[in-house]
Amino acid sequence: MKVIDKIRAQADHQNKVVFSFEFFPPKTEDGVDNLFERMDRMVAHNPTFCDITWGAGGSTADLTLDIANKMQNIICVESMMHLTCTNMPVEKIDHALATIKSNGIQNVLALRGDPPHGQDKFVQVQDGFACALDLVKHIRSKYGDYFGITVAGYPEAHPDVIESNGVASPEGYQKDLEYLKQKVDAGADLIITQLFYDTDIFLKFVNDCRQIGIKCPIVPGIMPINNYKGFLRMTGFCKTKIPAELTTALEAIKDNEEAVKSYGIHLGTEMCKKILAHGIKTLHLYTLNMEKSALAILTNLGLIEESKISRSLPWRRPTNVFRV
Ligand code: FAD
Repeated sequence: MKVIDKIRAQADHQNKVVFSFEFFPPKTEDGVDNLFERMDRMVAHNPTFCDITWGAGGSTADLTLDIANKMQNIICVESMMHLTCTNMPVEKIDHALATIKSNGIQNVLALRGDPPHGQDKFVQVQDGFACALDLVKHIRSKYGDYFGITVAGYPEAHPDVIESNGVASPEGYQKDLEYLKQKVDAGADLIITQLFYDTDIFLKFVNDCRQIGIKCPIVPGIMPINNYKGFLRMTGFCKTKIPAELTTALEAIKDNEEAVKSYGIHLGTEMCKKILAHGIKTLHLYTLNMEKSALAILTNLGLIEESKISRSLPWRRPTNVFRV
């Protein structure tokens, strides 16, 4: 089923708050087994969907396809696969799309991707696409309505547009927004945002999207802070604005991992409360393949029951029944 149809049914028609979990492909076989165990426990809480990332530059292509297929058919959760254009001639793009289609997956997060390792500018590969917009157009023209297509939105503008003072110029921000509208007009039906820590920036972004006529759901991407160094790395890479009070709070506890995690849960909960108070009914949690913080935030919000946070079935590596 398409994620957009589930969101429309649950959030719009049943007035429910819905949530989803993002995972990434682990580096080792043990890591993959651990991920499936964790996913299995997390799926017991009924996320609307789960998604799996496409490793930078296509580095995890086969594993991402395999995990997506198992998520959909063995873990039995509505699954979305990320797909980027980096290093991907159209033939490889079509192989990935045909594979997930043959395994019953109907959801793709269509992305341009970052430049390949060691390069600072995105360069279109021969016979490939230059941007996510081209990928959206290709999916719609070749696969019709089969796929629900999600695209990335950037509340602070894409990092390429952010200037040396840490913010995008009003013109750069507006251009980025108009380009996002082009992706939606070309056939995307859902937006998931880049992480942010200033909730007002996200709420303004939603408002700005509505002003220029973007009507599809805009799902906030929430990344719980689990670890101080990881937080600095991610926010540095994404050029995310860090509110002063957050810096002060974290500076005081940065050497105490447990305190940082607890603060991350508190902050994530407060951000989500504010977002929900503004009538937004979808939350997307960047789990970083960890379950505790994401589940604690959902428990604090009353969206899942604490007593259910234990289902643990031994995960057995299934024989490879899927086409990759
Ligand atoms: P695009 O939408 O193509 O845009 C990139 C930038 O170029 C924007 O500033 C846009 O305004 C500008 N631009 C592009 N084309 C045009 C045009 N024709 N006219 C005007 N402006 C244009 N990366 C991965 O490698 N794997 C993942 O799984 C992954 N998952 C992600 C999930 C989410 C929710 C998000 C927010 C990001 C994810 N990324 C992932 C990172 C993403 O690949 C990078 O941010 C990448 O640099 C841009 O991808 P995009 O799809 O946003 O690009």
